Amino acid sequence: MNCLFCRIVAGEIPAEIIAETEGALAFLDVMPLADGHVLVIPREHAARVEEMSTDSAAGVFALAASLAGPVRAAFSAAGTTIGVNDGEVTGQTVPHMHIHIVPRFAGDGAGSIHTIFKAHAADPSALPDVGARIRKRL
Ligand code: 5GP
Ligand code: ZN
Repeated sequence: MNCLFCRIVAGEIPAEIIAETEGALAFLDVMPLADGHVLVIPREHAARVEEMSTDSAAGVFALAASLAGPVRAAFSAAGTTIGVNDGEVTGQTVPHMHIHIVPRFAGDGAGSIHTIFKAHAADPSALPDVGARIRKRL
């Protein structure tokens, strides 16, 4: 088994475990962006979001949702940024789907998810065409 996070699930690599459910596991990021930076992963290997089974997806998002409040409370944080790097081009370095929960504080210098992008990609008038294009793939 050469997937790092599968090895954490198997207990072969130590991690600071925060919570476990039947389908998901949460542990501290070893290089935290803030105190309380948690990673939530499905037990079942899936490199990308779309590769998860319905059960895995439900389990991992449910665990993330249940942890956002406690993570914030533990550090008196004002909010949390919750996100997924999905695919190598986005900066995903561990190809086992994981949700980052990062506590946020007023004046912490980090931006919103929107600040990852430098500009708006398209005219809002294109939304019906863009929507149709995606719906065709469902
Ligand atoms: P990504 O860039 O793929 O979205 O995030 C991967 C995260 O995994 C990084 O924030 C990194 O610090 C964390 N990480 C990498 N290796 C380990 C490890 O062995 N243990 C833990 N707990 N976290 C890790
Ligand atoms: Zn894996």
